[in-house]
Amino acid sequence: MSYTSKVLEEAKSKNPNEPEFHQAMTEILNTLQPFADANPAYEKAGILERLVEPERVIIFRVPWIDDNGKTRVNKGYRVQFNSVIGPYKGGLRFHPSVSLSIVKFLGFEQIFKNALTGLPIGGGKGGSDFDPKGKSDREIMGFCQSFMTELSRHIGVNTDVPAGDIGVGAREIGYMYGQYRRLSNRFEGVLTGKGLIWGGSLARTEATGYGLVYLVDEMLRQNAHSLEGKTIVVSGSGNVAIYATQKAQQLGGKVVALSDSGGYVYDADGIDLSAVKEIKEVKRGRISEYVNYRPNAVYTEGKGIWSIKCDIALPCATQNELNEDDAKLLVKNGCIAVGEGANMPSTLEATEVFLKNKVLFAPGKAANAGGVATSALEMSQNSTRLSWDFETVDSKLKEIMVNIFNNINSAAKEAGCENNFVAGANIAGFKKVADAMLQQGVI
Ligand code: NDP
Repeated sequence: MSYTSKVLEEAKSKNPNEPEFHQAMTEILNTLQPFADANPAYEKAGILERLVEPERVIIFRVPWIDDNGKTRVNKGYRVQFNSVIGPYKGGLRFHPSVSLSIVKFLGFEQIFKNALTGLPIGGGKGGSDFDPKGKSDREIMGFCQSFMTELSRHIGVNTDVPAGDIGVGAREIGYMYGQYRRLSNRFEGVLTGKGLIWGGSLARTEATGYGLVYLVDEMLRQNAHSLEGKTIVVSGSGNVAIYATQKAQQLGGKVVALSDSGGYVYDADGIDLSAVKEIKEVKRGRISEYVNYRPNAVYTEGKGIWSIKCDIALPCATQNELNEDDAKLLVKNGCIAVGEGANMPSTLEATEVFLKNKVLFAPGKAANAGGVATSALEMSQNSTRLSWDFETVDSKLKEIMVNIFNNINSAAKEAGCENNFVAGANIAGFKKVADAMLQQGVI
């Protein structure tokens, strides 16, 4: 049995009932096999065994009081996975589906993603099974303050710097930051995604979606294609989906569909982003309301967005939202490229279908790294007490995304699997982290 298979089997049995974490480990360890086996120093130093074990897992009670005066309790998590190249960095997710397995898969992926950015940030992730949908502003604030009351003991500018993710946007970051500042009596860059008038970075809101499209554009251009005139389907209608749509439209693509957990809209004339922003960013409404703005658009309840014919698919909602059948349908309909804005949106089987059919496939840990990269730029601005203008941040973001693509492209070539950017991203990210672990000794 190979070193990677041994570690994978052992890690699965030591961490039962964590399907998403198993899936993330399987994808990474399987693609690392030839590389890790060819470098016996990794096995001798137990690099993989240490990598799959988080440095620290914190699970805590989050009590809060709802608008009826009833006390409610949620679970809070922070997984501090690996800090070998910098302080833990990764988002907080508030969604009823959040579990230890979800937070561990996200934290594990984050280690490699953060390494790929070229910036000094380690991997972590956290969140809660709290559902922000339908909650009043007072309930959201109460929950955020309670969550931060415990989390504040474990984070710090040089220790762990959380950010947003699903269900955690500018409003939630604001309430959590306020509580951190009150508890610590310090004004410091302990969270990213902050408001622009209190330490946030321009272009952070746009960064994940813009970065995704910059990377996909580079991947297309290096393969004799471009975004110009392409039909694009984007899933989700949150932060990543909205700004991926905006940048894709700016670069000449036509986005014809968006979704949320209720269903999807198809607009043959191209999505009207101002309508989507009003529904999602202002009214916090449902994507079904889009047809009130554009009567020719069609809303379909439930899943099925991947049945729409497109040249490029950008899954930007959540994990495992695109399965083997969806991938086959996309291939059959002539899709040439997929860029993952979400974390692990494609199942292992779907990824296989894309790779086998030579679809240009940019995996999430490379394609959506623009968010965390810009968070690291926010940290730099905070520590120098400066703020850069939008163009400065945006041009650094673009440069980072192009570099990421070039790195994963050369890593894939060196490994003898040209255009397999899944292998390229895993090898390039792993090599940096593993070599840092070798140099820092057994810790
Ligand atoms: P948001 O909360 O802003 O939006 C999430 C979108 O996905 C919503 O439209 C939501 O619909 C939909 N969605 C969430 N869960 C499900 C589900 N279980 N089934 C169907 N649809 C669902 O989150 P973000 O845009 O920030 O995050 C989207 C993805 O991108 C996540 O995978 C996240 O980890 C990843 N990501 C985000 C980064 C960031 O900077 N924000 C950075 C890197 C990755 P509904 O409102 O109905 O729930």
